[in-house]
Amino acid sequence: MMQGLEWTLAQQQAGRHERLFATSTVLVAAVIFTVDTFTDIEGAIAVLYAIALLLASQAVSRTGLIRFSVIFLVLALVSFFLTHASDPTFQTFLRLGVALVALGLTTTLLLRNDRARFALLETNAALRLSEGRYRSIFERTRVALWERDYSKLRTYLMDLKARGFGDVRTVARQDPQFINRCIGMIEIVAANDAAIDLLGSSATSASDATMHDFIPLNSETFVSLLQAIMNGASYFEDNAEVLNDVGEPKIVLLSISFPEEQVAYDRVVVSMVDITQREQARHALAKAQEELARASRAATVGALSASLAHELNQPLGAIAVNAQTLLRWLDRDPPDMEAARRSAERIARDSQRTSDILRNTRSMLFSQPGETQALDLIRLVDDTLTLMKYDLQREAITVEFTHDAAVPVISSGRLELQQVLINLISNAIQAIKATSPDRRALAISLHADAERDTISITLHDTGQGLSPEAMQKLFTPFFTTRLDGMGIGLSICRNTIEARGGTITGRNHPDGGALFEITLPKETASA
Ligand code: ADP
Repeated sequence: MMQGLEWTLAQQQAGRHERLFATSTVLVAAVIFTVDTFTDIEGAIAVLYAIALLLASQAVSRTGLIRFSVIFLVLALVSFFLTHASDPTFQTFLRLGVALVALGLTTTLLLRNDRARFALLETNAALRLSEGRYRSIFERTRVALWERDYSKLRTYLMDLKARGFGDVRTVARQDPQFINRCIGMIEIVAANDAAIDLLGSSATSASDATMHDFIPLNSETFVSLLQAIMNGASYFEDNAEVLNDVGEPKIVLLSISFPEEQVAYDRVVVSMVDITQREQARHALAKAQEELARASRAATVGALSASLAHELNQPLGAIAVNAQTLLRWLDRDPPDMEAARRSAERIARDSQRTSDILRNTRSMLFSQPGETQALDLIRLVDDTLTLMKYDLQREAITVEFTHDAAVPVISSGRLELQQVLINLISNAIQAIKATSPDRRALAISLHADAERDTISITLHDTGQGLSPEAMQKLFTPFFTTRLDGMGIGLSICRNTIEARGGTITGRNHPDGGALFEITLPKETASA
């Protein structure tokens, strides 16, 4: 609005000047013509038309200038014929010649000058247009843009570098005031609306705020930024914490393109995308993930103690029987040492089995997530089904596990993969439980794909299948359709599988029910 008004005023002023020069041109030309025609002054008066032409050049365009030039030429000729037609002498012709040459030269020079002026105006207009375009993008974009003057800071850092202090962190360690001083050297030039929304109204240059109000003193990103400037980097991008004008921390994705010319460091555009919520959600998810891992371990302990009691029952029973037999062989007179030895051997074998079972259980419980070991997937699925046996039986779900005769051993994290399977099986149980279908079944298959060098595990249940909304948001954290659900199980499954270089997908089976497929890369086949 303001700019439009200024433009109109400037236009009006320019119009007034042009009218003034045009009037002066006509007056000056009339005076020259009168003096040239009606006085006896001997001299090349017509040369003075050059002055009129100079005046005209301020008011008219190129064609106008040529027209004026022709008019002055005609006026000079008219004066000449009116005054000297009767007695033409060499001198009078010479004066006319000088005047015409002066007129011609002035016209040519003015036309050339005008072309140069026109080119300059065009460049100026293009510049103005591009500045206008930049301004409108700057103002309207939803990305927070902040123009800052880095020239002082750059000069200071380059000076330090020239003096042999090229490592910002070392300088900051030696001089506790260094970071504070650097922050103080940055000035705010302008902030767009999005930046004001993000940081508050004092982010503009008009306020009293300084960069100290926005950059926390302990910002690691700021130190990296200083190093980037010192290294003459052309681009800088990082996550950074900034403070808004009420001191609230905001996490932003900061990116800066540094100019090539040093002079342009007085207007460096810093773009910021607010990722505070995303980061908070990421932290919440990581925390929930941790909690789920803990809860899932607790659940595993419960399930394990049941299966442990079952598994240990047999070898412990055998040990007791063999110990009694051994005693009987020893009680004989004479003792049957050979038979006693065989019983002792059986006791040793069963004890070994007991300790193997305990060791396996222990490693299952205490192996760190992320730990890689050689995995027999058939065994892993079997073990997991044993763990889930009671839950599956309670819902009367029959499990059908099909697999290739031999599946290559892969290197992966046992506990992690088991948690993924427990999650998927629990979801299948929930889906079947919610639908109560006639056929309550879970089909698990395990196949190696030789062509793609992958192993796939699929789980197909007879539940209600995935709703259209669930299909879209299946792996999105906190998406759940269950009243008591948390909606993070599948997102954790995906993180886990992807961290191992695999994929996990979920869709509906043509025969009904949900079908989840895990694909894992076939890695080293070490046994
Ligand atoms: P939660 O089980 O806590 O809801 P998940 O991330 O494990 O969280 O699952 C998210 C959603 O995906 C579930 O609420 C459900 O709508 C859908 N879902 C997952 N597995 C199945 C399945 N086997 N059958 C039908 N829907 C499923």
